[in-house]
Amino acid sequence: MPELPEVEVVTRSLKKTVKNRKIIKIIVNNRNLRFKLQKNFKQILKNKIVKDIKRKSKYIIFDFGNHFYTILHLGMSGTLHIPSKKKVTNLSFYNNPNMPKKHNHVIIFFDKINLVYNDPRRFGYFKVIKNKHDFDNYFTRIGPEALDKEFNLKYLKNKIKYRKKNIKNFLLDQKIVSGIGNIYANEILYKSQISPMRSVGKLSSTELYKIIKFSRTTLKEAIKFGGSSIKDFKSVSGGGGNFQTKFNVYNRENQRCTKSKCKGIIKKSYISNRSTFICNLCQI
Ligand SMILES: [Zn+2]
Repeated sequence: MPELPEVEVVTRSLKKTVKNRKIIKIIVNNRNLRFKLQKNFKQILKNKIVKDIKRKSKYIIFDFGNHFYTILHLGMSGTLHIPSKKKVTNLSFYNNPNMPKKHNHVIIFFDKINLVYNDPRRFGYFKVIKNKHDFDNYFTRIGPEALDKEFNLKYLKNKIKYRKKNIKNFLLDQKIVSGIGNIYANEILYKSQISPMRSVGKLSSTELYKIIKFSRTTLKEAIKFGGSSIKDFKSVSGGGGNFQTKFNVYNRENQRCTKSKCKGIIKKSYISNRSTFICNLCQI
């Protein structure tokens, strides 16, 4: 599943490729995405110029100016490609030659280039928004992003009051903090040396501070390395995002802890059905 760093990488790629380009036409091969594509999707976007590309949490925003937007969520397996005669270009993982054409659900034609939306599992979706009110409302239920200044000690202390939820599920709750998925929640808690099972109400200020700090550094580092997403991207990405080689705890079951003074072993368990990796010695 694309996490925030992947979506950021795609957003940056889109800025380089389709910003300031005009949509000439759109072909819809399959309207049945997570939410059915609206009937006039093709007509409504024709001749629109992409004024800017933005990202909010895991949403990519095509900004056409005058409060007219199209939001794209990549769901579980959505990718964007710009095919050329020589190769197929995946915007987050370059030179991917193996894009199965049958999953090309939406093709947006700009002058000179085409943007292809491919999504085998069809959990992604497009949403057209035509005014500021609807746009602002769309994001009201999402908490501040882990990279935002609002995600600070004061905010966290306020959110954890009287809560018994474990810290891992707390970090995965997009209403509290947006943009942290399962892989990065594992990594952040490992670096903070905090057990994912700990109840948030019992965490000290020092521990919360560590979580904030490592949330930022982990996501920033992942963006820097081009993002990654193990399950859905690894097998199809020629030049793949290479952050997965940098994981300290995720998918390292039964391996030694990488911290120099720790002799612990990484154990795998499940929290709310999601794989959880933890050093049996240094995460307390
Ligand atoms: Zn350890």
